[in-house]
Amino acid sequence: MVIIMLGAPASGKGSVAEILSKEFGIPQVSTGDIFRKYISNGSEIGKKANEYMTKGELVPDEVTVQIVASRLEEPDVENGLILDGFPRTVNQAKALDELLAKKGKKIDLVINLEVPEEELLDRITTRRICTNKECKAVYNLKLHPSKVEGICDKCGSTLEQRDDDKLEKAKNRLIVYHRETAPVADYYKDTGALYSTTLSVSINRMKDEVAHDVIEYLKK
Ligand code: ADP
Ligand code: ZN
Repeated sequence: MVIIMLGAPASGKGSVAEILSKEFGIPQVSTGDIFRKYISNGSEIGKKANEYMTKGELVPDEVTVQIVASRLEEPDVENGLILDGFPRTVNQAKALDELLAKKGKKIDLVINLEVPEEELLDRITTRRICTNKECKAVYNLKLHPSKVEGICDKCGSTLEQRDDDKLEKAKNRLIVYHRETAPVADYYKDTGALYSTTLSVSINRMKDEVAHDVIEYLKK
């Protein structure tokens, strides 16, 4: 099963993907996480990606498609995967169709998480991440704060704000999202795989409920 998570930064893609990954027993593949791993290893790809990520820009398609192509060669994705943060441009979506076709796979479901525009910036800037690379738990100062401020509930490490979640960079990421990524949902509309749903605080739809709806939807 191949599932794609679409949505703005901090829309909840990663959190919903994590629940679905456990439910279906298929790995969650986040291009943002892969890039951050390359950056902390000090590799060439990491250096290149970092130039764009620190500005809140997208890493060029050639680089991104290449890392996804090699990830698709790994044995653990044989039975499927949940892509979280890829594709983010229509070109990436087209490249993914080709990559999957070569492997005899196709996209089963594209989940588009819609968050009201007025909530987006707030959700990004109040996000906090566990600094323990093995844990990477995600919190939000308002929506789901840690029990002790600044400390991860799961592993006790300190929490930090991702550099690109700071206000000015977050604003730029939203501009880039509207320009490059929002059209990807339209691309999938025609294929019939698109499932749009709202993950919003104002109407109280939390990640577990959305994941539950998706599981029910897939059973039908
Ligand atoms: P978020 O969860 O807030 O959307 P991610 O961790 O998915 O953030 O992505 C962080 C950054 O990594 C992006 O702003 C971008 O610079 C880079 N990135 C991640 N995925 C892609 C992609 N598919 N194409 C280009 N750049 C990407
Ligand atoms: Zn932790």
